[in-house]
Amino acid sequence: MSSSGTLDTSEVLAAHDAAWEALGAGGIIDGHNDLMWELRSQTGSAVAGLDQIDDRFHTDLVRLRAGGVVGQFWSVWLPSWLSDTAAVTAALEQIDLVHRLAQAYPERLVFARTAAEVRAAAKSGRIACLIGLEGGHLVGRSPAVLRMFARLGARYLTLTHTENNAWADAATDRPAVGGLSDEGLAMVAECERQGVLVDLSHVAPTTMRAALAVAKAPVIFSHSSALALTDHPRNVPDDVLAQLPANGGVAMASFVPEFVSQAFRDWQLESEAALSQMGVVFRFGESWMPAPRAGETPEQTITRGLAERQARRASATAAGQARSEAATGRGDTATADAAIADATATISFTDALEAYQAAHPAPPVTIKNVADHIEHMREVAGIDHIGIGSDFDGTAMLPQGLEDVASYPRLFMELARRGWSVDNMAALAGRNILRVLAATDPVSPPPDEPPPDLPGDWIDQAAKDIWGLDQG
Ligand SMILES: [Zn+2]
Repeated sequence: MSSSGTLDTSEVLAAHDAAWEALGAGGIIDGHNDLMWELRSQTGSAVAGLDQIDDRFHTDLVRLRAGGVVGQFWSVWLPSWLSDTAAVTAALEQIDLVHRLAQAYPERLVFARTAAEVRAAAKSGRIACLIGLEGGHLVGRSPAVLRMFARLGARYLTLTHTENNAWADAATDRPAVGGLSDEGLAMVAECERQGVLVDLSHVAPTTMRAALAVAKAPVIFSHSSALALTDHPRNVPDDVLAQLPANGGVAMASFVPEFVSQAFRDWQLESEAALSQMGVVFRFGESWMPAPRAGETPEQTITRGLAERQARRASATAAGQARSEAATGRGDTATADAAIADATATISFTDALEAYQAAHPAPPVTIKNVADHIEHMREVAGIDHIGIGSDFDGTAMLPQGLEDVASYPRLFMELARRGWSVDNMAALAGRNILRVLAATDPVSPPPDEPPPDLPGDWIDQAAKDIWGLDQG
């Protein structure tokens, strides 16, 4: 750094070279990207056209390549208001989407389960597609379902999403089981047996500590930042980050503005309060879309989904109005007001937020905020226990300069300017999470195992036993 605090040309060029050397040493393996949900809600689950730049998304194959990405955990996320059976069905549909995406672009993508497969993908110039399940609700309280998802390639399970489930507390919900219940502890053990990483993003600190206390395998945070810098319940407290060296796991830093900037977080709380005064409440999964039926085109799926959404909103509004009228009849104005708020809450939050934002612009968030979090995480957890988990296509807004998956190199240039070595940057980019994958790869049955040696008369003897032929 020059004495003025800014860099001269040769320093900028050196930072540029170091950033690219670090990315060239292994590339980015990103812990969390929600493109699969965006495809479900916007394209009717079609995967065509992703080999062109597509501005509807933060992600496409052209920009992934430009960003230096060699591996991506595609998030299988679904809203937690789905019933257990609906969640399992939709999770299978999203897993299918990841497999179809990889199959549609065999020259650019390849499905991967293990560290060796990620390395092989990188060597062949392709991007490894990994699966992460975002939310314990997706397995429908069934370890059997978890085991089958593991066979289909799922490599992590985020224990909760924004709401608690039956066995784990979320960071953004009221405590119910005090971290993990006995069922939750058993689910953690089952994940570890199946080579499914326990992901502690989204969970309450009590859940993080409960999982770390019993963990026999490394855990991950697939997309979280540091609580010490930004007071958001989704972020990781320092005492938890400090446990990662003993556990061996990795905290993957997110790019979500409200996680990395206190000013933005404060603005978000103010905007949510203002919108909720207007009766508009954010609900995850508002853009819910069904998956295609047999013989249905993506366009037909979208038309059907939009009609279903209209009908849902109309019936929610009617139900709220009926409750409100009944309460007014009883003279219960509080209940009447609440019911009306409920009825109008189906107004799109996104539309209302856009209108609010026009009058109250959000404070700027930059690459420097993200770099500050990464440096804090390195300080507390250590260089071997950090990674990148952007949350591209899972967040409406992004920091300036980190607008899409082509922008990772800018973050690494910022770190290089701050004096990060090539080796440190390579550890952050992908080496650490690759180590965790290698340490937890599921054990597959040996291929082409020869059939067991049976005595020559085994079948005869078995038939005689079953049919009682000896007695004949
Ligand atoms: Zn998330």
